[in-house]
Amino acid sequence: MGVETRLVCPAFYEAVMVLPTEDSSENARCTQRRINRLAVCSGAGVRTQDSILQRRKGTKNMYDVIIIGAGVAGSASARELSRYRVNACVLEREEDVCCGTSKANSAIVHAGYDAPEGSLMAKLNVEGNEMMPALSKELDFPFSRCGSFVVCVDEEQLPDLQALYERGTANGVRDLEVITDQARFREMEPNLADEVVGVLYAPTAGIVCPFNLNIALAENAYTNGIDFKFNTEVQTIRKIEGGWAIDTNQGVYETRYVVNAAGVHADHFHNMVSETKIHITPRRGDYCLLDKSAGNHVSRTIFALPGKYGKGVLVSPTVHGNLIVGPTAIDIEDKEATATTREGLDEVISKAGMNVKDLPMRQVITSFAGLRAHEDHHEFIVEELKDAPGFVDCAGIESPGLTSCPAIGRMVAGILRDKMGLEPNPDFVGTRQGILDPDTLTKEERAELIRKDPAYGNIICRCEMVTEGEILDAIHRPLGARSLDGIKRRTRAGMGRCQAGFCTPRSMELLHRELGIPMTEITKTGGRSQLVVGFNKDRI
Ligand SMILES: Cc1cc2nc3c(=O)[nH]c(=O)nc-3n(C[C@H](O)[C@H](O)[C@H](O)COP(=O)(O)OP(=O)(O)OC[C@H]3O[C@@H](n4cnc5c(N)ncnc54)[C@H](O)[C@@H]3O)c2cc1C
Repeated sequence: MGVETRLVCPAFYEAVMVLPTEDSSENARCTQRRINRLAVCSGAGVRTQDSILQRRKGTKNMYDVIIIGAGVAGSASARELSRYRVNACVLEREEDVCCGTSKANSAIVHAGYDAPEGSLMAKLNVEGNEMMPALSKELDFPFSRCGSFVVCVDEEQLPDLQALYERGTANGVRDLEVITDQARFREMEPNLADEVVGVLYAPTAGIVCPFNLNIALAENAYTNGIDFKFNTEVQTIRKIEGGWAIDTNQGVYETRYVVNAAGVHADHFHNMVSETKIHITPRRGDYCLLDKSAGNHVSRTIFALPGKYGKGVLVSPTVHGNLIVGPTAIDIEDKEATATTREGLDEVISKAGMNVKDLPMRQVITSFAGLRAHEDHHEFIVEELKDAPGFVDCAGIESPGLTSCPAIGRMVAGILRDKMGLEPNPDFVGTRQGILDPDTLTKEERAELIRKDPAYGNIICRCEMVTEGEILDAIHRPLGARSLDGIKRRTRAGMGRCQAGFCTPRSMELLHRELGIPMTEITKTGGRSQLVVGFNKDRI
């Protein structure tokens, strides 16, 4: 028995599916699977969601520290803060972590030669780059130190390449090298454009999964005691005795300290409490993402020589085996305008071929855009405000913010530790186990896993070969997925060639079954992004 439902999905198709009706034996099996999964997935030292909830019973809206924003800056700050005994909370207006700029970028771990010598941006870039390999092991997210080339296509610009080398060396970047030997750099990257005359090689550059970096930081902060409140939009911040009152759409929060990690909106909150105003321009970057069949076109990140608007259009492999091409750099006014434009994508396509030849642009599977939080002085602002004690900015975090986030988090937590005299958290557990990817197992291990939990034998996303077991883990782990995009960012279900055409109804069914969310309320990405628009039997 079931209810037939017609879904209208944004992935250009209509699907008819049968919803399971209440069935006690199915529910019982489901509960047992959940219990088994928590046992499998909660690694040694990692607390389960239930134990955390138990511990938090009775907590009121009053904190020592409130962090605004659950992007990489806010989540890294939360994770570093959780090393100390502190009652802290992250307020996020969206339904999940990683819903702002942290989900829409190039995903490069920059070496650190771009930012001006002596700037905070340069310092945190190099530190963040150095911290990333160990962090990726501790928190179990994909990272690869693949290296990068900045390419020069004009003999006259070779001095600019040399200048970049010198700036990088001054910034503390290791092992930089200018290569003008054509045979050597072409052997390393055979698809470089014929015009290339020299490259700056940075072996310490890398690529990372931005979603899993962000999610892992937040998950680890949460399991170490930091609260996260989603769908909670900060509206105003008021000074009160001993701290701050934060008005949100979910009521008032009080806190001694505020960390402002609101991305492109950070100037709004800064200017609310300080007489020294800052201004952030959203600088849009459009991208094309190519199918995995194009993933080996280059093996390192290939940058153009930087210009006035930054690092130019790059071509790079991703940690998941795709090829990414972009971004543009277009200053706009609307801080919510993350839609791509025809002109933007045309620019990406025309510029990409200038440094890398024979790009298979017919292999594009999707496009997207992100907004850089470009502060007028092009510098990270990470400090307690002089005229607003207790208010710590984490503003102007444009590129290389993703790279720098481990160092930004450490700096924010250091400021708070020193100001508040925080003691170490004796229960801090610095490791976290990511979602098990059955592809990493041997054939025998995989067979054993499926024998123990048949959900790992049920493929939900055929493009990325994501199993039901992985999706159930994504839903039930701490700060688990509540929407299709939440599942997608955690497991890659829906990120493949068909862009969720096949797995959308199946993932919805899992969200419905596991969380009891009615099918009509399941969203693509929170808010009003429901997918089911009606029941076809209603028309009969
Ligand atoms: C096109 C592009 C390419 C980039 N490429 C790279 C790269 O290759 N390497 C690199 O190192 N960096 C790169 N970056 C930069 C990097 O992505 C950012 O620096 C980083 O993601 C910023 O993180 P964040 O946490 O400050 O901001 P965000 O991720 O935007 O997080 C801010 C959060 O605050 C929340 N928020 C906002 N207002 C409120 C409110 N009123 N109440 C509650 N919550 C609120 C938002 O919902 C959001 O979740 C790139 C950026 C762009 C746009």
